[in-house]
Amino acid sequence: MTILGTDNFCQALKRTVEEKLNINSTVCHAKKGSKTQQFVLHGNIVGKVFFDWLYKDATIYLQRKYDKYLEIKSKLPVHYYSCKICGKPNDTHGYCRKHYYEYIGKEKRRQRYLNFKK
Ligand SMILES: [Zn+2]
Repeated sequence: MTILGTDNFCQALKRTVEEKLNINSTVCHAKKGSKTQQFVLHGNIVGKVFFDWLYKDATIYLQRKYDKYLEIKSKLPVHYYSCKICGKPNDTHGYCRKHYYEYIGKEKRRQRYLNFKK
């Protein structure tokens, strides 16, 4: 899920999403050498949380984009889970990816994760 915009817009969006929704996002150049930035969310569930929030109080929106949102939404499970440790939304095991590795992951994977963190 990406949204194109100016650097200011993308950075503001990133901060807002982190503060309000506890969701991590990435801001990067849309194209090499381009001034246009893109705001990137990783994963469908995260996208759903974002759009639920975005459209919750919206009175003006692009119908085309809203239709796309409804289409994405209809394909997703109604419920998503919050990580038991940090509350980040995720779609599978009740832990975000980071905490899944840390607490439930197979020994090998956990070691790799812990080594990576150092
Ligand atoms: Zn977590």
